[in-house]
Amino acid sequence: MNEFDLIRQYFTRPTPRADLGIGDDAALLSISAGNQLAVSTDMLVAGRHFFPDADPERLGHKCLAVNLSDLAAMGAKPSWFTLSIALPEVNEEWLAAFSRGIFALANEHQVELVGGDTTRGPLTIAIQIAGEVPRGQAMLRSGAKTDDDIWVSGPLGGAAAAVMHRSGRVTLPQDVFKQCDLRLDLPQPRVAFGQAIAHLAHAALDISDGLAGDLRHICNRSHCGAVVFVDQVPPAEQLIHLPAELALEAKLAGGDDYELCFTAPVSARNKLQKIAAEQGMAISRIGQIVATTQPSIQFLDTQNQALALTLGGFDHFRT
Ligand code: ADP
Ligand code: MG
Repeated sequence: MNEFDLIRQYFTRPTPRADLGIGDDAALLSISAGNQLAVSTDMLVAGRHFFPDADPERLGHKCLAVNLSDLAAMGAKPSWFTLSIALPEVNEEWLAAFSRGIFALANEHQVELVGGDTTRGPLTIAIQIAGEVPRGQAMLRSGAKTDDDIWVSGPLGGAAAAVMHRSGRVTLPQDVFKQCDLRLDLPQPRVAFGQAIAHLAHAALDISDGLAGDLRHICNRSHCGAVVFVDQVPPAEQLIHLPAELALEAKLAGGDDYELCFTAPVSARNKLQKIAAEQGMAISRIGQIVATTQPSIQFLDTQNQALALTLGGFDHFRT
């Protein structure tokens, strides 16, 4: 099978939303008047971001999901993506499964693969995604305002529990590990929710590296501080199987959940709850943006005492 057969068979699907899709030197795309083009890219490298023997169908899902999640965090509607892939060999079984995974999620979100590049090399997958957002409505990391509520979608820490199990730090019951592994391998990007809250939220990002580290990006870019009530941060139900300290680490510092963290004025509370209810999304109000001279996050316990984060895993985000 040559390169062009491979592209035709595994990566070429109809692209009705593009003026021109795969096959020429470039794709041609039109965006609606009044919208801005939101563009983002994420690269996954075998051995660094996933195990080289990772299930190819799940890998196809994940590499598109992490890109969709970035547009969700901007409040943009994703439309098109390109796929650059380096393959160590042509393994048709692998390609068929990878293609199934990627197009199942693409169809779910009606995003079209409009181009890419294919080469031989160590397994690496780079996707660039593009979508539209009404001009001025994108949720920026720099948009948080003093007294904003801080919200997160979904429960947190499920994916981190799977990583802890895989790395031997904990041993979960097999069925619990399976559930956590699904969170890790098949993240569900909050695309519809991101678009629905864009006109209400001041700032947003997706939680890829862990709440503590990611919320810090909002604080840094918005020149503000954050107070987080630790007990209000919703844990994945599977975390009851972890020792308390690790459960705390998983929900506060665990990555790979791809939920959204966003800030919004107090006046938006009811509207946000209504949107979440309509979409069947769980959201939790976990704290407040505060004015500070230095960007920092304070984690408070139920008695409003600053949490002494003495765990090794917490050191990197200690404030
Ligand atoms: P060029 O030589 O101009 O770089 P290629 O021969 O690499 O073009 O690719 C031919 C066509 O196939 C182009 O339209 C390109 O965008 C598309 N393409 C190549 N690889 C992929 C891929 N992995 N997924 C989707 N489209 C691809
Ligand atoms: Mg090329």
